[in-house]
Amino acid sequence: KEVISKNFIEQIIDKDIEEGHCKTVQTRFPPEPNGYLHIGHAKSILLNSGLANKYNGKFNLRFDDTNPTKEKTEFVESIIEDVKWIGGDFEDRLFFASNYFEQMYEAAIKLIKKGKAYVCDLTPEEIREYRGTLTEPGKNSPYRDRSIDENLELFEDMKNGEYPDGSKVLRAKIDMASGNINMRDPIIYRVARMTHHNTGDTWCIYPMYDFAHPIEDAIEGITHSICTLEFEDHRPLYDWVVTELEYENPPKQIEFAKLYLTNVITGKRYIKKLVDDGIVDGWDDPRLVSISALRRRGFTPESIRMFMELCGVSKSQSSVDYAMLEYCIREDLKLKKPRMMAVLDPIKLVITNYPEGEIEYVDVANNQENPEMGSRQVPFGRELYIEREDFMVEPPKKYYRLFPGNEVRLMHAYFVKCENYITDDQGNVLEVHCTYDKATKSGSGFNERKVKGTIHWVEATTATKAEVRLYENIVDEEKGVYNEDGSLNLNPNSLNILKECYLEPSFGEAKRLDSYQFLRHGYFCVDSKDSKEDNLVFNRIVSLKSSYKP
Ligand code: ATP
Ligand code: MG
Ligand code: MG
Repeated sequence: KEVISKNFIEQIIDKDIEEGHCKTVQTRFPPEPNGYLHIGHAKSILLNSGLANKYNGKFNLRFDDTNPTKEKTEFVESIIEDVKWIGGDFEDRLFFASNYFEQMYEAAIKLIKKGKAYVCDLTPEEIREYRGTLTEPGKNSPYRDRSIDENLELFEDMKNGEYPDGSKVLRAKIDMASGNINMRDPIIYRVARMTHHNTGDTWCIYPMYDFAHPIEDAIEGITHSICTLEFEDHRPLYDWVVTELEYENPPKQIEFAKLYLTNVITGKRYIKKLVDDGIVDGWDDPRLVSISALRRRGFTPESIRMFMELCGVSKSQSSVDYAMLEYCIREDLKLKKPRMMAVLDPIKLVITNYPEGEIEYVDVANNQENPEMGSRQVPFGRELYIEREDFMVEPPKKYYRLFPGNEVRLMHAYFVKCENYITDDQGNVLEVHCTYDKATKSGSGFNERKVKGTIHWVEATTATKAEVRLYENIVDEEKGVYNEDGSLNLNPNSLNILKECYLEPSFGEAKRLDSYQFLRHGYFCVDSKDSKEDNLVFNRIVSLKSSYKP
């Protein structure tokens, strides 16, 4: 019998239901529309939507768009696409925090009326000074004891645009001596003339994150507001806001550890810099781990979900190996994708005793481990392409592939024996000449002699030509992601473009995002941006070799 162990968040939810704090579960994913989502966000999406699913609850996608400076409509669209693709099923539960500005304003007035908020005229520098330090308590603002009426009037004037940007703020009246600096009369509203992508110029005051977020959660009936560990210190303020505003079923904040991948750039800020500096080809460059980049590279939602399952949910910070993600995509594609022959670094092989101009078809299983995938007919003839590295003039010991005098199997076809080769003036091999033995055809049962090497090939006159892009980590793994000054250590060889590759002719039908195993090379996917019908471009998703042991 399967043992189902629950993560710490599920244990909290179970207890909340048992003790009657909530009946249903409602979660949300609250991205700021200021960039593209990355694999870290995928964790949060799958965690939140997964909990809603497990408890038969609801999952909201909510744009946390209360800070107009960096927000763009372009990001809203890409985020919606990415959340859907990864499997965060929000149905029609799409919300914008900016639609709650009016309610937030009213909430602020409620606090003022309760004597729990005041308008403060200190400058930003003075506010910082008065705030104190970790070891020293803060000092009360001289404006802290303004009357409720005065505060109401001043706050309304702030809203009506009577004060310049930054000249006045509204602060929660909590405790300037609190051991938690977040509780030392935090700012909850500021004056800022900014055009908002949703509300335009309606507002010249905007709420601060710590005030806005719990209100957004409460308005939507969120039961468990799941966020990352850096907000742990903000939880007392979150609780203060929902308590003082007297919400009937206040939401509860729970923190978990962010997902970090070793030697991988995830931060929006850093990805943006690579994009802005033109080092990568946009947010969906296949070397990045933004969700759009993973999709373009050929990762599947299933593989990313499997990865998140393996990572688990925890409260302690750790870093996961990228090899684990690679393991998941191999596992996902292994039985689903056809295994085809593709020559990435071609040289010609001529079978001198094969009839000129003749083509025969060999029957090849599409996936040797999955017979349900059927088979296909692959053309074979006198002129083939093989990999340059599968032939050597002077082979080292234990090299079992082609060299003068040696015989190998051409996968799914015949034994060929190397008789000769042609070079150019510099000694580069141009052609390998072989003879074949008709009796050795694959599947014929021939067993009079054996060969040690098997190599793949593509028939030259019918081959589909393609461009193939091989990737390495964009980070220099020897040096680590960041330099001391915060700059990135980049690997100059992260992209290797092979312009002249030859594939079996059935690749002619390859479509956007189709993926395949190229025998001996790994898994590859049609590039959704640059591939054209008459100029196929493939991305290597992952090689076949693995450094990860499950
Ligand atoms: P980044 O700084 O990496 O760009 P962010 O936290 O600024 O991310 P938001 O749009 O504010 O991006 O994040 C939306 C949600 O995704 C938040 O609840 C946040 O906690 C969560 N999240 C962001 N990064 C990670 C991560 N690496 N692992 C898990 N959750 C994450
Ligand atoms: Mg953020
Ligand atoms: Mg951030």
